[in-house]
Amino acid sequence: MSLDTLKQHFQEKFSQAPDIYVSSPGRVNLIGEHTDYNNGFVLPCALQYKTHILATKRDDSLIKAYSLQYLEQPEEFDLNAEIMHGDWAWGDYLRGVAKELLGQGHQLTGLNIFIDSQVPQGSGLSSSAALEVAVGGLFNYVGKLGLSTQQIARTGQAAENNFIDCQCGIMDQLISAEAKEQSALLIDCRDLSTRSVSIPENLALMVINSNYPRKLADSEYNERRAACELAAAAMGTPSLREASMEKLEAVKATLDEVVYRRAKYVICENQRVLDAEKALSTGDLPTLYSIMKEAHLALKNDFEITVPATDGLVDICMEALDGKGACRQTGGGFGGAVICLCDKADTDKVVAAVEANYHKNFSLTADILICEPGGGLNASSL
Ligand code: ADP
Ligand code: MG
Repeated sequence: MSLDTLKQHFQEKFSQAPDIYVSSPGRVNLIGEHTDYNNGFVLPCALQYKTHILATKRDDSLIKAYSLQYLEQPEEFDLNAEIMHGDWAWGDYLRGVAKELLGQGHQLTGLNIFIDSQVPQGSGLSSSAALEVAVGGLFNYVGKLGLSTQQIARTGQAAENNFIDCQCGIMDQLISAEAKEQSALLIDCRDLSTRSVSIPENLALMVINSNYPRKLADSEYNERRAACELAAAAMGTPSLREASMEKLEAVKATLDEVVYRRAKYVICENQRVLDAEKALSTGDLPTLYSIMKEAHLALKNDFEITVPATDGLVDICMEALDGKGACRQTGGGFGGAVICLCDKADTDKVVAAVEANYHKNFSLTADILICEPGGGLNASSL
């Protein structure tokens, strides 16, 4: 939807013109899975799909909000009253962020808000983080709160952890808040330091959702976390970030074979993220592709969080690209999406191969998104 059409929606709902515009993107993780809670590295990239907010300041303490995606569910709450869960699940993302900011001692003013997002929901592109960061960015801009992008990201994460009750890490919010145009972001999850790495113009980012119904993801996630903690304890390191393959080999005899493989995966994945960042920054795409390929195999064989449908999608894409690209499962696992990197000229081949083979082999239909890198949080006056 164009900004002009969005302005018309705002005018219709609030009988005034908006004077503040905020946008914040969804993201895909290029590499670095299950490394975040091990204090390791991740390499996400913000996408062109963004959540857009138009707003005006109110004279009172009310938040009145609409989302184009939930037009029949108008949201309203009072910043001066205790913030509780509302009638609409989507409104809780606004409430959660407001509650966190008030809890930090910030003064917030009432707002009229109209939201529209191109970030598909529940497709692994983190529409929730895009919304939290956009709302945090809006309060920050209007109230001149002076928050850094990292503070806005932390606030979004806290809202999701405390109010939405989803125990996500910081990656999604941090990339949405801090992304630079045409770049991925190396994030060190130990101290949250970041480094932008530019993405070659000809590199296509395809996100292909397997639409495999995710099951057992929570219990399996907890099992992986526990195994990582066990291995770190055996090596006497605070987390797997401080571990190494030498240290792991030294305690191998004392470890369960499965725990050994889980730890090996994380230790090697951290190195792969750093190697991938280096390959990307030097434009060495063949090396990047081989790291991605190895990462998927490690997810499959050592961390064991892939499913036949995502393994199948990876195989279909890799075969179509014949070495001129790479594909791996992205996200927490047990279904979800794969990310495929290739030359922009080759995306048609991938689409054709997925359409010809995925449904035939897995009785599922994949959603294919051809993505572009995008910039991060932006707030301005209209
Ligand atoms: P995702 O993987 O996309 O982040 P989540 O389940 O974490 O999936 O978040 C999706 C939820 O975020 C939606 O159900 C909705 O409550 C909220 N949300 C996302 N985008 C919008 C939007 N454009 N307008 C209102 N709420 C939204
Ligand atoms: Mg989410």
